[in-house]
Amino acid sequence: MRIFISGGAGFIGSHLCKKLLHEKHTVICVDNFITGDKRNVAELSKNKNFTLIEHDITKPLQIDGSLDWVFHFASPASPKDYLQYPIKTLKVGTLGTHICLGIAKSKKAKFFMASTSEVYGDPSVSPQPEEYWGNVNPVGPRSCYDEAKRAAEALTFAYNRQHNVNTRLIRIFNTYGPFMRLDDGRVVSNFIHQALTGQDITIYGDGAQTRSFCYVDDLVRGIIKYMDVDYSGPLNLGAPFEFTIRELAEKVIALTDSKSHLVSMPLPQDDPKQRRPDISKAVKLLGWEPVVSLEEGLKYTIAYFKQRLSA
Ligand code: NAD
Ligand code: UDP
Repeated sequence: MRIFISGGAGFIGSHLCKKLLHEKHTVICVDNFITGDKRNVAELSKNKNFTLIEHDITKPLQIDGSLDWVFHFASPASPKDYLQYPIKTLKVGTLGTHICLGIAKSKKAKFFMASTSEVYGDPSVSPQPEEYWGNVNPVGPRSCYDEAKRAAEALTFAYNRQHNVNTRLIRIFNTYGPFMRLDDGRVVSNFIHQALTGQDITIYGDGAQTRSFCYVDDLVRGIIKYMDVDYSGPLNLGAPFEFTIRELAEKVIALTDSKSHLVSMPLPQDDPKQRRPDISKAVKLLGWEPVVSLEEGLKYTIAYFKQRLSA
């Protein structure tokens, strides 16, 4: 197949490009590197089936030839990144989604939207099933991301209903692994980076807030399975095991054998207190569930961070 991926030089996008190339597909990756890294796709660029286009997907783009699948992954995704680029985040979630849907429509390709658990905001229901409509502050600092993704979901369904575009929509829960930027500010990257460099481990608030961490290979396996299932979503993909942020810090310290200390920092505004996916729909539809434990996934990620720090 010929497959288009926006945001393909980012953390998850680069894993997906790699997997699709491995399955002998042709991959056209579009990225403007606002939060991605050229090094993520440096190795892939040697593959004759891989094309990298440096382009801002909020602006129109002409792709020659046919396309079978269009994936829209472009968007700043770490709170640190989207707080730095609130308008660009809104634009890529709305205008960027519109452009990618237009490409899929014109090529009669299947469209895939990478949405997020952030559409549930600070949830009052746990675990979060797809039927939960969420608890989002529409004018808070995180709204540039949450509302952009909610608009992207609405656009995806509008194209499905009005133009019969064959669409897929997932809500990704906290995913981690190699090829995350060391300084992306997300909790896993921060803690590993801090532990390996002997800095204090920064716990925001009391560390009792929870997240459920999915290893990237598990997520990508779920995405590929979903493309062959006739269901327009939304579909939660993530790991159903919930940890407090303090527990995560303790695990990272133990696995890195670090002497770093935990320090408390202010909790950012509207930081969700809990997050855990109800994945029963994905289990039933795809026969999928994550298989990599947090310890195992952290070990792979720590190995990657060590290698990057010594390069
Ligand atoms: P990332 O920041 O590593 O990747 C995003 C990529 O999109 C980057 O390479 C960036 O340069 C590119 N991009 C951003 N705006 C662009 C634009 N206007 N034009 C072209 N390229 C642009 O983040 P990630 O963790 O790989 O996230 C990828 C997608 O998955 C995002 O849409 C994000 O919302 C979603 N997601 C990720 C997680 C997670 O835990 N990693 C959770 C929920 C949703
Ligand atoms: N967090 C933390 N210390 C850090 C970075 C993040 O305690 O150095 C917390 C953050 O407040 C949130 C959780 O870890 O409660 C996950 O944050 P992240 O930025 O990874 O993404 P989120 O899940 O909030 O989108």
